[in-house]
Amino acid sequence: MRPILFVTSQLPALAQQRLEALTEVKVVQHASTHPISRPELLAAVSTADGLICVLSNKIDAEVVEAAGPQLRVISTISVGYDHIDLDALRRRGGISLGFTPNVLTDATADTTVLLALMAARRVKQALQTVAAGGGGFSLSTGLGSQFTAKTLGIVGLGRIGCATAARLLPFGISRVVYSGSQPRDDRAGPLNAQFVSFEELLRESDLVCICCPLNERTAGIFNRRAFAIMKPTAILVNTARGAIVNQDDLLEALDKGLIAHAALDVTVPEPLPGDHPLVGHPHCTILPHIGSATEETRNAMSNLAIDNALAGIKGQALKAKVDLD
Ligand code: NAP
Repeated sequence: MRPILFVTSQLPALAQQRLEALTEVKVVQHASTHPISRPELLAAVSTADGLICVLSNKIDAEVVEAAGPQLRVISTISVGYDHIDLDALRRRGGISLGFTPNVLTDATADTTVLLALMAARRVKQALQTVAAGGGGFSLSTGLGSQFTAKTLGIVGLGRIGCATAARLLPFGISRVVYSGSQPRDDRAGPLNAQFVSFEELLRESDLVCICCPLNERTAGIFNRRAFAIMKPTAILVNTARGAIVNQDDLLEALDKGLIAHAALDVTVPEPLPGDHPLVGHPHCTILPHIGSATEETRNAMSNLAIDNALAGIKGQALKAKVDLD
């Protein structure tokens, strides 16, 4: 009997071909492009030796408890693991957790820069003008701002935070500040970035990029209090997780002009309903969680997740493992 590898989603074409060619495991895969149902997920983990999942699959205590004794590895195709109950995994024991750091850093940093430029250069309004048959050169309308001599604030100077700052510095940024749990001199040095408190970052930054994980310390930190501290000309970019921003408070801040523009790749919920006030807001740009969505990156993420799952099933070291200790 071959071990069972359950996969909750179809994979990008190249990784899907590799998955289908695997012989050492029996691959069972959710066939629909729609998210897997809860009952299907619960049934799957009861018989699987390994599980490959995506961030829309909530791996909570119920799922972990439904896992059969043979389940050895959960391998998420994401670097974030806020959808997985780590305490439930610790209580259960014996299940490794794989994730996909590094391979998505460039694509996600690219998306962060894309959103920053879209916000600064008022691209949402420009596209709407063209779609309405308007536009053409004008000396005084549609004017945005530029990054020359501005201060960039990175909330979470990790892999994506560093890659974002490195991309933005050549635009003429004069100062980089960052916040986090402690100074990270090794990462900050090459960027000449300065560790500051969250409040100072909010007060000083012209462009704030959220690059930290969602956890109990970061949930809702961009709230009414934070927006009141930020510059009225500030741009907020969130490519991390939607729940780091309190969306009701963001809407109020945009309506009151407490900040200039928010550009979001991530929201709560996803997708955000089309009639949500942030979707049509002139000072809010929203992308449908495409941070890592390139052919190269999504295949690399899927391949790393397959590697992690196969290693976990065989009882070998995972290439990229979340430390549960
Ligand atoms: P990472 O290398 O672990 O970096 C995250 C950084 O956040 C760490 O350096 C950490 O630094 C910092 N941090 C932790 N708590 C913080 C807090 N309270 N305030 C400020 N900073 C804090 O992770 P990554 O690979 O850069 O990914 C970051 C996040 O991006 C992921 O967790 C994921 O949610 C998101 N993401 C989104 C997409 C997308 O498609 N939109 C794609 C990839 C990743 P300290 O420990 O020093 O505080």
